Amino acid sequence: MEEFEDFTQAQKLRNVRYDVRGPIAVEAARLERAGHRITKLNIGNMAPFGFDAPDAILVDMIKNLPTSQGYSESQGIYSARTAVAQYYQSRGMRDAEVSDVILGNGVSELITMVLQALINPGDEVLIPAPDYPLWTGITTLCSGRAVHYICDEDNHWWPDPEEIESKITDRTKALVIINPNNPTGAVYPREILEAMVDICRRHNLMLLSDEIYEKITFDDAEMINACTLADDVFTITFSGLSKTWRVAGFRSGWLYMSGPKHRAKNYIEGLNLMSNLRMCPNVPAQHAIQTALGGYQSVEEFIRPGGRIYEQRNVAHKLLSEIEGVDVHQADGALYLFPRLDPKIYPIKNDEAFVMELLRQQKILVSHGRAFNWIDDNHFRLVSLPPVEELEEAIAGIADFLGAYRDA
Ligand code: PLP
Repeated sequence: MEEFEDFTQAQKLRNVRYDVRGPIAVEAARLERAGHRITKLNIGNMAPFGFDAPDAILVDMIKNLPTSQGYSESQGIYSARTAVAQYYQSRGMRDAEVSDVILGNGVSELITMVLQALINPGDEVLIPAPDYPLWTGITTLCSGRAVHYICDEDNHWWPDPEEIESKITDRTKALVIINPNNPTGAVYPREILEAMVDICRRHNLMLLSDEIYEKITFDDAEMINACTLADDVFTITFSGLSKTWRVAGFRSGWLYMSGPKHRAKNYIEGLNLMSNLRMCPNVPAQHAIQTALGGYQSVEEFIRPGGRIYEQRNVAHKLLSEIEGVDVHQADGALYLFPRLDPKIYPIKNDEAFVMELLRQQKILVSHGRAFNWIDDNHFRLVSLPPVEELEEAIAGIADFLGAYRDA
């Protein structure tokens, strides 16, 4: 019998990473199968923590099931795309129209399509560090180079426009903004956004603004849609139902294109081709978009003082800050905290091994900082979604683990 070579993955996958669902999550699943209860503070998944979707969304999806059996138009159903266009009109984008909107199986699929349509081998995309790692992963998958601009922990985790500009080369194609930010919780002020838009304007870069946490901001943090500052910059804004409307499992998101579209005609043709290639997004979930955008915005109940997300984030911040050598910037938006462990007290060599040990000893699952393309081994990300009692118990477990590390 002839000896064949094994089946191996394509080389283009070699440097693609998505560690949030990597070895730590696999080990957690193994421990669960072995009968352990794991506290999962690793994924921004609302539903398992009791954040149910608004009823109207579920009803809409169910009611539309019989008429959702066929493929839809590739870009998505008309009523949902109109609702998205009207939403951006209401945010000040008066020219927004249906053809500016493409729906996707979550923002994830749209990020993949947008970057595939954009990147030639060796092209560079400016991405924040830390980032939501899909941006880096897909850029790498497309044989592009993710060039990270470093957000400043000592300045609210905001980016530094000068540093961004210093990283531009003749291969730079686009600038990615994640606002509100995952994993830092930063919400960018107008001056920073204006400076980032201006960089795109002066260097002819496409602006890619991931705003999936748009409606999850706290206290006085003001969320500004980058597109509203960028009339003369070709901008793609991303958002969807996964967070605000708590239906991450439906896989339903959208992108909205604005600015000088006449200069992006060829690119948009490519994007529409990408859209055709995947046939269409999940049809039943598209029906929920119009209701979501037009209906009562129940997430507001969670993010104001007294609301679950607001109070949990406060408790998590307070308890983490009380641990010796832990410094954590309070989140102005999104669902996460990204604490720093003082390297003098915690000289961690490998943050992935560190959180693996936390998992094995305390059965608490968090994500290590490098999973977000962060530059040192002294950060981790924690999701502040569990109820207060569960958070208290989990952070006490983290404190015990860190105490033992200090004493060792
Ligand atoms: N962008 C950011 C910043 C995220 O945090 C996430 C999910 O956590 C996504 C995009 C992907 O969202 P979706 O569920 O719409 O694919």
